Amino acid sequence: MMIIMRPGAPKEQIDAVIAEIERQNLSSHPIFGVEQTIIGAVGDGHYVAQEVFEALPGVLSVQRISQPYKLASRQFHEQDSVFQFNGFSVGANELPIIAGPCSIESREQILGIAQAVKEAGANALRGGVFKPRTSPYAFQGLGQEGLEYMAEARELTGLPIVVEVMAVSQIKMMEKYVDVFQIGARNMQNFNLLRAIGETRTPVLFKRGMSATIEEMLMASEYILCGGNTQVILCERGIRTFETATRNTTDINAIPVLKKLTHLPVIIDPSHSTGDSGYVSAIAKAGVAAGADGVIVEVHHDPARAFSDGKQSLTPEVFAKMVKQVKAVAEAVDRTLVPQHERV
Ligand code: PEP
Ligand code: MN
Repeated sequence: MMIIMRPGAPKEQIDAVIAEIERQNLSSHPIFGVEQTIIGAVGDGHYVAQEVFEALPGVLSVQRISQPYKLASRQFHEQDSVFQFNGFSVGANELPIIAGPCSIESREQILGIAQAVKEAGANALRGGVFKPRTSPYAFQGLGQEGLEYMAEARELTGLPIVVEVMAVSQIKMMEKYVDVFQIGARNMQNFNLLRAIGETRTPVLFKRGMSATIEEMLMASEYILCGGNTQVILCERGIRTFETATRNTTDINAIPVLKKLTHLPVIIDPSHSTGDSGYVSAIAKAGVAAGADGVIVEVHHDPARAFSDGKQSLTPEVFAKMVKQVKAVAEAVDRTLVPQHERV
């Protein structure tokens, strides 16, 4: 439920509404606007009468949120959410590009790729240190050692770092290193992990599960949001269909659909959605044309020898070309990339 306060309602009235929300065993999520405050009351509130709030001093109106997800919905937060990072924002008119290898393999590898993607126009560096591999015998990642190298790469380039977290037990250690936690497709409905990430205040790149509907994705994001971690970036990374010509099927529809249903930024991952470096650039452009707020791409200096996802990894040279084309597409839809001079 959304409790809309009268413009200029004093703090005591806002506090009284929040106290009533808590008395009703709901959680309060105030949005303080310049003139007006709106307070979200979230929880199992179907039995709470709207009139309880309507009668409180300073309350203008009360509305129910019709969607099953609440804090993620556009009804709760009409404007696009914009999150700030070092040198750029996500969700605004300028789109950031996140790039890097699937896995951190060595110090030399990540320092080299970090510099190469920065020169080609990346705004943030990605790389996994705990890898959700299909086979337990495949490379599982360097763990904390890899995070040390990622931190060094950030130091060298100024690029914020995005790293996947796979387990609750990794959060405390990883928090000290990462700028953005990635929740991978396989953990999209790992609700214990999502609740624990919701307790942190580290921004989250939240990937769609490979068999998840858009509604399931938004419901799952709600687990993070309701813990008070409001900085969730959604990522379309392809879904499983009957088609086998590509690793996954990019659900381009999901981008405008998500943009309609939620205020959260939505980015596209053409690497995992296609699984083939030959298609990555085309789908990055399609995603941006469809309204994506950014792109995340796998880049490797020697894709043939990559420890994971080499087939879908771009070389830094091909990545640089992709960035130029993505910029042209962004401009065709009245947006642009984060300007070069703002890149750290
Ligand atoms: C990754 O980003 O390397 C990854 C494992 O992604 P996803 O969870 O989308 O498969
Ligand atoms: Mn990968």
